[in-house]
Amino acid sequence: LFDALADQAALAIERVQLVADVDRARLAAEADRLRSALLTSISHDLKTPLAAIMGSAGTLRDYSGAMPEEDRTDLLSTVVDESERLNRFIANLLDMTRIESGATEPNASLHDVGDVVGTALRRAAKMLARHKTAIDAPGDLPMLKLDPVLFEQVLFNLLDNAAKYAPPGSTVRIRAWVDDNSVALQVMDEGPGIPSGDLERVFDSFYRVRKGDHVRAGTGLGLSICRGFIEAMGGTIAAGNRTDRSGAVFTITMPIPVGAPNVEDLT
Ligand code: ADP
Repeated sequence: LFDALADQAALAIERVQLVADVDRARLAAEADRLRSALLTSISHDLKTPLAAIMGSAGTLRDYSGAMPEEDRTDLLSTVVDESERLNRFIANLLDMTRIESGATEPNASLHDVGDVVGTALRRAAKMLARHKTAIDAPGDLPMLKLDPVLFEQVLFNLLDNAAKYAPPGSTVRIRAWVDDNSVALQVMDEGPGIPSGDLERVFDSFYRVRKGDHVRAGTGLGLSICRGFIEAMGGTIAAGNRTDRSGAVFTITMPIPVGAPNVEDLT
């Protein structure tokens, strides 16, 4: 009986190993596929602005003498704009790898979220020059445990998207309120919104809803960085659509630390 059991056990172990091997092979193949999709996407995002820079710089070098001033300025603007796009993309990639490797440990301490919103809005002012902005938040929000640099980057990415996807002249609104044991913060716009089937996928790296979105200077990384940062600080972020009109809504919730003072108590 013992031998029979031992044989059966050996067979079972072999079968488990076989399944494990097949699983491992499948996982490795999937990882390879993802890696090469990622590399294709990164190469594309690097090559597109680089091609524009090389084209414009080459034309300037060869023909700038015989060129009207206006055309020269146009070409130079392309060089500057596309360099900024490259710069942003590389910064996003670095942020991404920092989150994934766990190197971005949030440096969390108590902060007034209103101050952080103010700084993010000031940084985003140039992008939002053709939009209206509105803030709707009580003055006595509790202090939150957050890393102001990371939180500001999240708001900046959301405002950047609002500026990119909502038409000029429309209003980008920031709202904040206390909801049970957390503070909710929303960034909403008056653009086309996000198809309901894509609301979760927009947080995937390199995911973009519309093919045409590639025309806009985006990387498909902004929202995955937002989620990575917010989750690293103990909060959540979700995408939705407005119910009163068209437009996307991004909702961040951050837990209120136990015993956190209100901003008003400190002033
Ligand atoms: P991107 O660099 O493409 O903007 P993100 O990760 O920031 O990358 O966003 C992913 C996709 O989600 C965008 O390509 C766009 O399709 C969609 N999206 C993000 N924000 C908005 C918004 N405010 N309104 C409509 N669509 C949006």
